[in-house]
Amino acid sequence: MFSTFNLYISPKEKMRGNKSGAWKGGIAIYTTIHVWIRNHKPNPKICDICGLPEYYNEKLGKLELSNKTGKLIRDINNFQWAHHSCHFWYDKENKIVHEGLDDK
Ligand SMILES: [Zn+2]
Repeated sequence: MFSTFNLYISPKEKMRGNKSGAWKGGIAIYTTIHVWIRNHKPNPKICDICGLPEYYNEKLGKLELSNKTGKLIRDINNFQWAHHSCHFWYDKENKIVHEGLDDK
């Protein structure tokens, strides 16, 4: 199941995850790639999914990185910037399974 928890992992939650070996490996790669993408893919301030700006309205707030395929690959083209609700919709619509996060 996709959950928004996955996108914002606090250090505290990371530590909790370290108890599980498999989860630790997955999440470490996931976090590394997300940080790398954030540093290399400029935030256009426009949602790649709906085309509306960041903080357009109450529902369409901050943009977040969305993994287009769920695959853990270090490729900026595999990511898009999207509103949280658009991101959620996209993942659901495309049945995206995020690698490394299945056994959270
Ligand atoms: Zn959007």
